[in-house]
Amino acid sequence: MSVIVRFAPSPTGRLHLGNARTALLNYLFARRTGGRFILRLDDTDRERSTEAFARGIVEDLAWLGIEPDLIVRQSDRADRHEAAAQSLRERGLLYGCYETPDELERQRKRRLARHLPPIYDRAGFKLDEAARAALAAEGRRPHWRFLLPSGEGGTSRTVTWDDLVRGPQTVDLASLSDPVLVREDATFLYTLPSVVDDIDLGVTHVVRGEDHVTNTGVQIALFEALGGPVPAFGHHNLLILADGTAMSKRTGTLSLQGLREAGYEPMAIASLAVLVGSAEAVEPVASLEELAERISFDKISRAPARFDPSDLDGLNARLLHGMPYEAARDRLAALDADLGPAFWEAVRANLGQFGEVADWRDVVRGRLPPVAIEAADERAVLAAARELLPPEPWDQTTFKGWTQAITARTGAKGKALFGPLRRAITGRDAGPELARLMPLMGSADMSARLSGF
Ligand code: GLU
Repeated sequence: MSVIVRFAPSPTGRLHLGNARTALLNYLFARRTGGRFILRLDDTDRERSTEAFARGIVEDLAWLGIEPDLIVRQSDRADRHEAAAQSLRERGLLYGCYETPDELERQRKRRLARHLPPIYDRAGFKLDEAARAALAAEGRRPHWRFLLPSGEGGTSRTVTWDDLVRGPQTVDLASLSDPVLVREDATFLYTLPSVVDDIDLGVTHVVRGEDHVTNTGVQIALFEALGGPVPAFGHHNLLILADGTAMSKRTGTLSLQGLREAGYEPMAIASLAVLVGSAEAVEPVASLEELAERISFDKISRAPARFDPSDLDGLNARLLHGMPYEAARDRLAALDADLGPAFWEAVRANLGQFGEVADWRDVVRGRLPPVAIEAADERAVLAAARELLPPEPWDQTTFKGWTQAITARTGAKGKALFGPLRRAITGRDAGPELARLMPLMGSADMSARLSGF
């Protein structure tokens, strides 16, 4: 049986880092097993779902390197959902209820006051035909609840599964209200369409956040009621920000779009999203293939995956520091900064974000505003430096001979020597080794940078 997984966001906002964790855990599993990855847009909430968010989700996944094998929209499958609801109704497993939200709330409070579990009392299930007709005559329209199965002789029924991440799980259906599957306006809540689609699409593994554990108890009962094969389930821990801020599609905290616009590398995001809260160290991993090898469901821990968004800066920088020239070349060219492997290898260790390479391009091309250096001893060093520039060709060893000659002439060493040189040449106090920048710049630009002192 080949693996089929799905990632099922509702297009009611842009994806955030926590959504990326779910998407990637599914996708990497499909990659490892030669399976298929489906993007299912859970757009049954017509009011909050938009076409722009749906496109944004596809775009965000593509940026991470995820190309779905298939994209499905739940709104295209309404007839299948309706047929399933009808079949449940005919078998008495989906029953109409007429309580208003206020009535339900009062009922809940009454039960709590009597120390009873605050679950729905199945009043709707007990209505006879005459009572239903009377309510309909008042103009009331029903919402529809799924009759959760009970065990032999009406005893409570537990649903169990061996979770891919959490091990053996049990949900006691008697502790739950019969879930509403269809609203008064005949629209579906998420629960039933998800199961119908999982069956129709042949989904073999449902991998999602642990906030869905209780849903899984209900959904397994629905899979069984609809006669579909029950997939394997895995519920991963959720990402929690160290400062307690929640990520939300609505508020856009840590959205993939925002992170992309802020200049982060997709593999820095993917590495953090997947490896945090696992038995693996959180390190920058260069490709999704490698990430797929690193992770498996049994490595994901059960405790929440706490992280500090500033960890991303370190991961991003480390990814760039190890990035080979071939991987950077096209992006360098796009920034007009492809000055060859020696340039990339000289500057990459100084980058926090890829775009900063443009600053070093300007340095190497001598396109910087002149630097004001006032101290007389520093000016003397720079004047000598200009005079002593050796003839080309230059290589990485040129710098040593040159600076020795400057020391011999001026007596300046260490900071007193390298400080003014670096500032005059690069306009900064820190950066790549001057010995590597010097041959990249060449005599004319170096001489120009050192003139006027
Ligand atoms: N649309 C649901 C959500 O975003 C999907 C959950 C699932 O994977 O079944 O929470």
